[in-house]
Amino acid sequence: MKNGSVFAPTEISPGVVLPVHECPENLVGVVRAAREYRLIALRQIVSGERMFRIEGELSLRPSRYSVQVSETQHVDLNPGHSAEEILDRYFWRFMNHHCEPNTVIRGREVVAVRTIAPWEDVTFDYNATEYDMADPFACRCGSAVCLGEIRGFKHLTHEQRHRLRPHLSTHLQRHLESATVPLPSLVPA
Ligand SMILES: [Zn+2]
Repeated sequence: MKNGSVFAPTEISPGVVLPVHECPENLVGVVRAAREYRLIALRQIVSGERMFRIEGELSLRPSRYSVQVSETQHVDLNPGHSAEEILDRYFWRFMNHHCEPNTVIRGREVVAVRTIAPWEDVTFDYNATEYDMADPFACRCGSAVCLGEIRGFKHLTHEQRHRLRPHLSTHLQRHLESATVPLPSLVPA
C-alpha cells in the first residue's frame, strides 16, 4: 500500500490510533493492524440491516479471496484493480471468518445478524458460503464453538451442517435439504 492518503490515522478508542480507510457511505472501514487488514463497522449496525453488496467478477473456480454465491459461481476480483479501488468498492475482501459471525450473506448482500458495535470486526462464516475452499486455514477466532480448521461446508459433519443452517447461503441450504441422508438426532443442549 504505497498511497499514504488511502488510510487516515483515526482514534478508534481512547489512546488507540489505527490507520483507517473509510469506505463509501461511512458504514464500514478497513483497518490495517499487525500486518493484517480487517473490515470494521464505523457506526452501530442493527440486526437485520443490509450492509453492502459483494461486487466483483463471477468466476467458476474458488480462489483464496472469492465468495461463493451459487452452486457454480464465485465472486472474485480480476487482477489490475488499484489499491484504492479495492478499498472503495471491493472492501468485502477484508471481511474475516468467524465461527460466531455477526453477518450472513444472502445472495450477494451482506446482512447483520446481530447488533454490531462501532469498531467491531465485520465477519461471516466461510463454511456458510464456501463448499470446498481453495485455501483452508486454521481459525483463531477464539469462539467457544470454533471449529479450528476451516475448509468449507463439504468437510463438515452432518451435525455441524445442521447447526449452521440459519447462516447458510441459499445454495448450501439447498444442498442440505437435498441430502438424502437421514437427519442426525439433534439433542437440545
Ligand atoms: Zn473459529
